[in-house]
Amino acid sequence: MAQTLTDKSEAPATHGKWVYLFEEGNAGMRDLLGGKGAGVAEMTQAGLPVPPGFTITTAACNAYYDAGQQFPNGLWDQAKQAMKDVEEKTGKQFGNPSNPLLVSVRSGAKFSMPGMMDTVLNLGLNDETTEGIARQSGNARFAYDAYRRFIQMFGKIVLDIDPDLYEHALEDKKQEAGAATDADLDVAALQQLVERFKAITREQFGRDFPTDPYEQLQQAIAAVFRSWNGERARAYRQSEGIPDDLGTAVNVQTMVFGNMGNDSGTGVAFTRNPSTGEAKLFGEYLINAQGEDVVAGIRTPKPISALHQEMPEAYQEFQDIATRMERHYRDMQDLEFTIERGKLYMLQTRNAKRTAAAAVKVAVDMVNEGSISRQEALMRVDPKHVVQLLLPRFDDQARQQAIDAGKLIASGLNASPGAAVGKAVFDADRAAEQGISGEAIILVRPETSPDDVHGMIAARGILTARGGATSHAAVVARGMGKPCVAGVESLRIDLGARTMTSNGNQVREGDVISIDGATGEVFLGEIPAISPRFSEERELAEILAWSDDIRRLQVWANADYPRDAERAREYGAQGIGLCRTEHMFFEEERLPIVHQMILSAEEANRLQDEVSTLEADAGQRGRQDGRAQEALQTARQRVQSSQAVRDYQDALRKLLPIQTQDFRGILQAMQGLPVVIRLIDPPLHEFLPSYDELIEEVTTLRIRGNDPSELKKKEHLLQTVAGMREQNPMLGLRGIRLGILYPGIIDMQVRAILSAAVQLQAEGVDVRPEIMVPLVGTANEMKTAKERIERVASEVLGESNADVHYKIGTMIEIPRACLTADKIAEDAEFFSFGTNDLTQTAFGYSRDDAEGKFLLKYVEMGILPTNPFQELDRDGVGKLMKMAVQAGRETRPDLEIGICGEHGGDPSSVEFCNSIGLNYVSCSPFRVPVARLAAAQAVIAEQTSRSETR
Ligand code: PEP
Ligand code: MG
Repeated sequence: MAQTLTDKSEAPATHGKWVYLFEEGNAGMRDLLGGKGAGVAEMTQAGLPVPPGFTITTAACNAYYDAGQQFPNGLWDQAKQAMKDVEEKTGKQFGNPSNPLLVSVRSGAKFSMPGMMDTVLNLGLNDETTEGIARQSGNARFAYDAYRRFIQMFGKIVLDIDPDLYEHALEDKKQEAGAATDADLDVAALQQLVERFKAITREQFGRDFPTDPYEQLQQAIAAVFRSWNGERARAYRQSEGIPDDLGTAVNVQTMVFGNMGNDSGTGVAFTRNPSTGEAKLFGEYLINAQGEDVVAGIRTPKPISALHQEMPEAYQEFQDIATRMERHYRDMQDLEFTIERGKLYMLQTRNAKRTAAAAVKVAVDMVNEGSISRQEALMRVDPKHVVQLLLPRFDDQARQQAIDAGKLIASGLNASPGAAVGKAVFDADRAAEQGISGEAIILVRPETSPDDVHGMIAARGILTARGGATSHAAVVARGMGKPCVAGVESLRIDLGARTMTSNGNQVREGDVISIDGATGEVFLGEIPAISPRFSEERELAEILAWSDDIRRLQVWANADYPRDAERAREYGAQGIGLCRTEHMFFEEERLPIVHQMILSAEEANRLQDEVSTLEADAGQRGRQDGRAQEALQTARQRVQSSQAVRDYQDALRKLLPIQTQDFRGILQAMQGLPVVIRLIDPPLHEFLPSYDELIEEVTTLRIRGNDPSELKKKEHLLQTVAGMREQNPMLGLRGIRLGILYPGIIDMQVRAILSAAVQLQAEGVDVRPEIMVPLVGTANEMKTAKERIERVASEVLGESNADVHYKIGTMIEIPRACLTADKIAEDAEFFSFGTNDLTQTAFGYSRDDAEGKFLLKYVEMGILPTNPFQELDRDGVGKLMKMAVQAGRETRPDLEIGICGEHGGDPSSVEFCNSIGLNYVSCSPFRVPVARLAAAQAVIAEQTSRSETR
């Protein structure tokens, strides 16, 4: 047995050598031997008991076509020679009835093309060898069943005979014999069927079925070559972008049979548990069966541990192999095996698919076992796994019980992870109504559209019959962080009858269903879910701690309330990158004060502006100018007697302690860490009732005529709202523009931030406030804002004789800010990319309109590669960011730069932020762990590509 394993990537000289015995290849020879050939060669090299065989190269396939569908010189001789070698290894002989060798002939291109090309099994059978097999196995039924399958397969694939002719003959025979299934046909019936199949072949092919095994082999090899250019294969290559000139290899391998009696069997096993990651062999097998029987699920397989008792030697050998293979490939393996008369054969081994929990546990365990490095472990965990691990998931045992009880009614696309249980509801209005009243709802639709969004918001999960990973349902659900199973092809939804049916199971509206967005499974009834606790996810904590040692980017969080800040800290956030202060204005008891502020703001500001202008004017003219002094006096009196000014100041006075309390909370929760607090950003009308609603109310009040004072109030409100209406609020009076026009609001906010900081500092709390100005597009806006902030700050600090260190900076979310970042940096100590708005403004899209109308279509059509609101558009938005980073740091080399748009939690965008040298990414608390891992992966990928180019 070879103890050392090869991993050479260069192929040996190939000139004129068309055939490689399995032991002559290795995993690095995929181009020449195809994926399957290289895999089986690697297993053979590793000393595994692989049924002997050989691979005819992809170059031979191409040469076959070049020669006008003729074997190239030397190929057939080499193949015959290889067969001799196989005969020697197996002790069997091709075509020898007393000890017949049978082989499979399989296609195998460089890239997997599942089911697209052809395979012939049991090749080498004829009347004599079939008798030989019957004698050897003591099982004539098995031998004749294999023979009839071989003729059928050979006829269809090699001789191009209509497969229905064989199928009909098989059906006729079953009827005649009164057999319910193929398995009920006895030896005599199978022998008659063989004769019938031969007759069909003769009728269609014009010759007898070839009985010479070498002739069978020659024809089968040519048929596999031809299947490379079959319609299915060509279409598949086109859709997957696989080049047409690669060619397929042909693998000829000794057949082994798991159905040769009770000392034979077949099974599949993983080196570790693929659901939990537990380091223990996991799998199942069937005695006296073929691989198909395991897959078909007709017989219940036994757990692999039972093999220990049933065939101790084979079990021990299998276990040793499993351990060796895992060590060799340095990853958890998924192994297929067959035992033929007590002898174990390995058919396949590959890296195993696994759940999120298993991925994390296996990665950590393998580091602790010394098999892989920490960096490798980090690269093995998909950031999606981290998201999944923190979402509710179904209890493993309960899920298995549900499957055993036949409750798994459908499987679709795992479109957005998480587990959800609720009543099936078939329209969005009803889902919204019931969801809002607290019912757990699963919205079930053929597919979703923007009209369904209100129902999606109210639902716990979404299930659709149609649509892929970029369908509306999938994209919106992921955005909302809700579980979604999409594209469930077996699902028939009858919207009229309000029912859905899948595989014969009917669900009526109101029936409870459970969906698993991580696996795409749909169950009848309720499956208990587990809500993971971050602090208890030990292995995840380990992965994240290793990430922290490697990453360069800091990870901060977007949080508006102390409870979010606390959660962010628990998840490992190193600061708050965005506290959106306006969210605090929406709270119920505050809204009336906010309304008062907005309703009086315009008039109050107009009057105060008048005073300021006259003050400046009088200052220029000097005290002697009596007229100027008089005008100023009058303006001041107007301010003093104005109700609007009183209301405005009163509102700001009331909001001040409230906001101070808000900021105290968040600064305290993050003590010792930076907290970026953004000044008010949205247009003011967002805090007021909608124009349409008010028109309706005013009209009703006018018609009724019974409440004149309410009518007057509403009319005033309507007038204000009408005055504030904008054609494009996203591009209108918001952000710093609002702060410049209504400075009283930001004065109040700055006063609140610094008062909170002063109080906490006096109490011994380490506070690090950073005041952020939104939507800056010009250096003058920044300058004006900065001067105002500094003035108020020095007032507050002066009043309390305190010294608090704070920073002033800006969001960068307008292309012009990127282009003039050098100037803006003169007054900004930090930048934070608001990539939500920067994406909107760079593309000229309004997000809501774009996502509702054309964006998904664009992605579907390939006009955009992905949704740029989820994954940063590196070519456009990214380029602007890069420019801003460079220009900003030219002015201020120590400029702190982060990102606080939604992209801050998207792994690909995190990688980009790492590459352009940001200091931190800031994302929702829930995504902090994902960003920690993604930031480490970015560094590792960078190091790997650097060492590769060296
Ligand atoms: C942004 O524009 O990216 C941002 C963080 O601000 P908001 O989403 O609040 O507009
Ligand atoms: Mg913004």
